[in-house]
Amino acid sequence: MPKGLRVTFLGGLGEIGRNCMALEQDGRIVVVDAGLMFPEPNMYGVDLILPDFRWLVERRDRVDGIVLTHGHEDHTGSLRYLLREVNVPLYGSPLALGFARHRLAEAKGLGRIEFIEVADLERRRIGPFEVEFVPVTHSVPSAHALAFHTSVGVVVHSGDFKLDASPIDGRRTDLGRLAALGEQGVALLLADSTNAEEPGYTASESSVGVALRRLFLERPERRLVVACFASHIHRIQQIADAAHLTGRRIAFMGRSMEANVKLARKLHLLRVDPADLIDVEEIGRYAPGEVCVVCTGSQGEPLSVLARLSRGDARGFSVGAEDTIILSSHPIPGNEWSVGRVIDDLHREGTEVIDSSSENVHASGHGRQGELRTLHQLVRPRAFVPIHGEYRHLVHHAELARSMGLAAKDVLVCEDGDQIEVSAKAVRRAGRVPAGLHYIDGATGDLDERPLEERRMLAEYGVVLVSSAVARATAELAAPVSVTTRGWFEGERDGDVVAHLEREVRDALADALAEGVLEADALSKVAQRAAGRLLGQRYRRQPVILAVVAVL
Ligand SMILES: [Zn+2]
Ligand SMILES: [Zn+2]
Repeated sequence: MPKGLRVTFLGGLGEIGRNCMALEQDGRIVVVDAGLMFPEPNMYGVDLILPDFRWLVERRDRVDGIVLTHGHEDHTGSLRYLLREVNVPLYGSPLALGFARHRLAEAKGLGRIEFIEVADLERRRIGPFEVEFVPVTHSVPSAHALAFHTSVGVVVHSGDFKLDASPIDGRRTDLGRLAALGEQGVALLLADSTNAEEPGYTASESSVGVALRRLFLERPERRLVVACFASHIHRIQQIADAAHLTGRRIAFMGRSMEANVKLARKLHLLRVDPADLIDVEEIGRYAPGEVCVVCTGSQGEPLSVLARLSRGDARGFSVGAEDTIILSSHPIPGNEWSVGRVIDDLHREGTEVIDSSSENVHASGHGRQGELRTLHQLVRPRAFVPIHGEYRHLVHHAELARSMGLAAKDVLVCEDGDQIEVSAKAVRRAGRVPAGLHYIDGATGDLDERPLEERRMLAEYGVVLVSSAVARATAELAAPVSVTTRGWFEGERDGDVVAHLEREVRDALADALAEGVLEADALSKVAQRAAGRLLGQRYRRQPVILAVVAVL
């Protein structure tokens, strides 16, 4: 058991997504966040990517709780998988827990879960630590940085944050408290690196409201359809305010949008005049200029409301030439292509489309270099590990930390699976734990790398089935070699290659039979190798080859 504090990074270091780490002292463990990541387009059939939880599951008796920094899916989306194995209390703001509760209610096989709500600046005993919840501004309300009071000093985890001086709810990042912690002495800072490459400061969320109001005012005759993240309650507030200002009724569309709006109104985090609200079915009763639709789908998700509107198959309402669509968002890397398709389809319907490339209709939730510098200056940590970012973001954030006066030995760029130990004097690398990508395919469950690689080959080169039969009595072919292909050549050439393939496999089988090979498995391998050789060398193709030779 380590004497000081041990931190194990299980996800989010080297990628945007699946954030998860564990802090451990005196043999007891507290987990921070359990998020998911969405797959890249070439991960065929993969629906979600989780952290590898094996290290935690093996130590489940020593885990005292999971602390949520905020309610985004990259921090909460894998809870349903982790809690199934490690059922411990969940700590977080009422909103973060509310979002998590929605998702967990859909999951099966979970026991009773204990939700423990925390308030801003509350300090709570969780396992071996006093944990303090420091308010920060982000693209979801009620986000927290965490201060762990440990045996080796204070560890500050920034959560996802920006320094917004004019947030919609007036709840600013508590710079005073962060400075006080810095005064007290911070042993380790772990901080958000998402925008570490970007100079300057991230725009305030309220600047988006200014743009929205102008766009609404300029279009008194047009219906407005605004898409944004369903968790972005402050954005939704500003859209609703712009609608109210311009005398429009508001219809919320999309399951997560409706659920989140309901929860946020209940928690008094979203204020909408009930008189402004209408159902989707009622939209047709109003002139276009009297309506504002707020919906999901700003990332081009194929099943979302916006994608369905773009294809003309949404329930109760369709868009046309009298509509202006505002994408109040910025595509997450990897989603640009799907967002582009949706925008194309919307143009096909004759709508006007406005996005963040032409208007100031989005602001990031993550601080840029200026904000990161301010954080470092206030917290003045003894050591620093950049978190929450692609590898290049981590490297840029590490450089920034050194430029703020930290010695190179006190700045560690870690990746998923790395462990560090923090003593009262120093921080050092302590080992590695398994932390590969854990793929979830909704249809078949867990997936590992091998079937995924096969799916890639199937997608790129197709599949070839080679079959034949051999008579044991005569050691001769009892059926002709037959070749079937899928996703492969077409037209005349196809016939040539297939005939060539059949000849090649027949000759290889004849040679093997002459050498006395009479095992079905061995003959199948001979057929597979012969087919692979011919296709690879002669035709430069690497399809998945299935060969079956029966011995009768
Ligand atoms: Zn976030
Ligand atoms: Zn995040």
